[in-house]
Amino acid sequence: MIGAVLVALQLASTTPAALTVRAGDSESVVPLVETNLGAAISLERLSPLVPLTITAVGTDRFSLKIAGVDMELRDQLPFARVSGQVVPLAAAPFVVGGHLHVPFEIVSELLPRAAADRVRYNPSRAELRFTGPATTASVALIPASEATAKRAAPSRPGTRARKRRIVVDAGHGGVDNGMRGPIGASWTIYEKNITLAVAEKLDTALRSRGMDVTMTRTRDTLIALDDRGKIANEVHGDVFVSIHVNAANLAWHKPADARGYETYFLAEAKTEDAKRVERMENESVHFETNSSSEKDDPLTFIKLDMAQNEHLRESSELAEMIQQHLGTMEPGPSRGVKQAGFRVLVTAYMPAVLVEIGFGTNAEEARFINNPAKQREIANAIAAAVGEYLDHYERRLGSATP
Ligand SMILES: [Zn+2]
Repeated sequence: MIGAVLVALQLASTTPAALTVRAGDSESVVPLVETNLGAAISLERLSPLVPLTITAVGTDRFSLKIAGVDMELRDQLPFARVSGQVVPLAAAPFVVGGHLHVPFEIVSELLPRAAADRVRYNPSRAELRFTGPATTASVALIPASEATAKRAAPSRPGTRARKRRIVVDAGHGGVDNGMRGPIGASWTIYEKNITLAVAEKLDTALRSRGMDVTMTRTRDTLIALDDRGKIANEVHGDVFVSIHVNAANLAWHKPADARGYETYFLAEAKTEDAKRVERMENESVHFETNSSSEKDDPLTFIKLDMAQNEHLRESSELAEMIQQHLGTMEPGPSRGVKQAGFRVLVTAYMPAVLVEIGFGTNAEEARFINNPAKQREIANAIAAAVGEYLDHYERRLGSATP
């Protein structure tokens, strides 16, 4: 058992970020998903180069035929049955957004061993070479309950049959006021009102650029954090943008002086300041009365986090562009692009960012973000950034798949 763990650790340390799948003259690159137990891969991504059938048996069992090898897997169980033999795995398979993910070792070790005549893995090139007939149809059957959560990727150019859809999320709402400020002033702003006002103007700005918009809320109501991402998935959003207002920690030296704008993408918080904002924005969950038990299950949280990992690079690029465009109109300072574990971003299977448009605790910034004309400028800057990001993204996809 200890031996197996050591082998697993060694593998984890040498796993590549992506796998090249090759069959004849065809090749495709499949990203790996980082987990705390090593790399995992979405099996469906191997098709059509590797003939593959996935059949869901009940809710948590999967029967696969992959390159002619029969395999059985169970969601959350670190074992595989390969050609009738039970084999322990370094980590358990899991399902995210309707996609079966398996530990990388299934592709790099188990499969080449079971189908030595048809599949070979080259670790130095991170290449899976498939030499059998590639004509077998590939079918992926996923339980209906999972299929609704299927990930929506931006459509490819040329085949785009619909407009880009941006999901605009006005932070907080209803009993959840969000932050209030400014510190020491005789007047008060509430975050939930500012975020809605900016979101409405962002809606207008995006539509004027030819994009479709879905707002997670258009009134002063509370929407559960997890539901905001689910709404985004349901409408197959291409991008998710959540609008928020920052608040200084009262324990800071001169908290009323803190100011600036920053954009976050979803990942583990790296700094104390990012952790502060993460805690603050995740607080909203306490206002949710009908919170499901699933929401409090840390495992679910981590699993969903891994699905978002697929969009990490896109999300950080989008955050970068928003930060740049805000810099053309915000009095500043730019606090930069940051990362933190925002609950509201976890459930959205698409590039997703959270923008802190300014500090409501600072009187000057509170006045700025409360000014309808300035709100329109903020909205225009974000809309321009989203448009530029999608242009970039689609160009990149276009050059990758001619
Ligand atoms: Zn907020």
